[in-house]
Amino acid sequence: MGYMNTMQKHHSVELIPDKCIGCTDCIKRCPTEAIRVRNSKATIDENLCIDCGVCIRVCRNHAKRAVTNGLDVINDKRFKYKVVIPAPSLYSQFLRNTSINAVLTALKRIGFDDVLEVSRAAEMVTEETVKVLKEEARLKPMISSACPAVIRLMAMRFPSLMDNIMPVAAPIDVAASAARRMAMRKGYKADEVGVFFISPCSAKATAAMYPIGMEKSDVDGVISIADVYLPLRNIMAKLDPSEYEDLCQRSFEGMGWAATGGESADARIENAIAVDGLENVIRVLEQVEDGQLDDVDFIEANACMSGCVGGPLTVVNGYVARNVLKKVRANAASIPTDRGRAVDIPKGSVNLRLTKKISAANLQRFGQDMGEAIKNMEDIEAIYAQLPHIDCGSCGAPNCNAFAEDVVLDGIPVEDCIFMMRRKVKELAEEMADLAKKMPQTMTGD
Ligand code: SF4
Ligand code: SF4
Repeated sequence: MGYMNTMQKHHSVELIPDKCIGCTDCIKRCPTEAIRVRNSKATIDENLCIDCGVCIRVCRNHAKRAVTNGLDVINDKRFKYKVVIPAPSLYSQFLRNTSINAVLTALKRIGFDDVLEVSRAAEMVTEETVKVLKEEARLKPMISSACPAVIRLMAMRFPSLMDNIMPVAAPIDVAASAARRMAMRKGYKADEVGVFFISPCSAKATAAMYPIGMEKSDVDGVISIADVYLPLRNIMAKLDPSEYEDLCQRSFEGMGWAATGGESADARIENAIAVDGLENVIRVLEQVEDGQLDDVDFIEANACMSGCVGGPLTVVNGYVARNVLKKVRANAASIPTDRGRAVDIPKGSVNLRLTKKISAANLQRFGQDMGEAIKNMEDIEAIYAQLPHIDCGSCGAPNCNAFAEDVVLDGIPVEDCIFMMRRKVKELAEEMADLAKKMPQTMTGD
């Protein structure tokens, strides 16, 4: 697919070195401790990054970004029929125009041939989720598979919870696959159809390139909400309601997925926890790991505060966006222009299940075998014991423990810690003073 060919790496989040001033603001906020500052520039460990986008949000110098395709992708001549699949969080970005058909009509005016709302696919995923919970004997609690940053975090930090992941496909993948099949029913060949996802976040952009729990993605390109926002707003400002096309698919329940709690509400799961923000997600997953939440049926976990409406590639503040989304859903039923159209996604034409087991990440950070790992861990402990334990970050690592690991595993000089450097300078000065005392008097000039 085009997207994969243009982005030959495993992450969408990257550093813009020229803009980085090495301030270290980002290192402490990264939930997986993937960032270090060395020689006054940040670096990201590709093995640890989960593409959550926290560092994009934190960096005041705009030195981190998510690589997406940009609107130019519409001009790709390979595609004779272009379908856009907008995330429901897109509707939450327009504070003054809460008509779904206004947004979807404007998307078509940008150059897409058709629209399939991801919220429609979300409703299909909901049905499958309910089926799994009712009919299958699974570990409790089941954890939603919808947020790719959470799934990558689990693979890295919570390997024992892999079997708790709900085995259903993410709504984007279902929507992309349905969009391609619907276009093919109109007579287009599979490779003539371009499917473009409008994304609120970097993790979903990466998941479109390197799908989780699936062999391949049907998404050909990812455009961030931030990139499409102004063009859409300009078109919408000029549109008269009489010009709105009847594109809304009346998937108002599925739209709820864009905000925290929407997924479990759509599935009417009473005994569910909806948690947002990675720090909170980590705390809840720790409780699951400890067996404290075995009586809960379902956990809906979103990396971003407020859910996808608070994604790093959105424009509007997540809390404001959440309120707008509520209004869009409430108003939609009564807005005549949002009366909606039937969307024919033939049953059985799309796969609603994950097709590949999601495995724990095999990081082997401490060593290739048990012996090496134990030796390295002992060395790390010994270095850590000498450090000041104040987690100042001036060494370029997020805390003293991470720095001790970097010294032992990556060969970083221990003197990169200013306290260790000060100690060394003091020891050298004392040694020199001792030596000076031992010099023969004829050589001191006294
Ligand atoms: S926050 Fe991180 S990426 Fe941004 S300037 Fe500071 S060190 Fe560089
Ligand atoms: S995207 Fe998230 S995990 Fe990756 S470096 Fe940035 S903050 Fe860390």
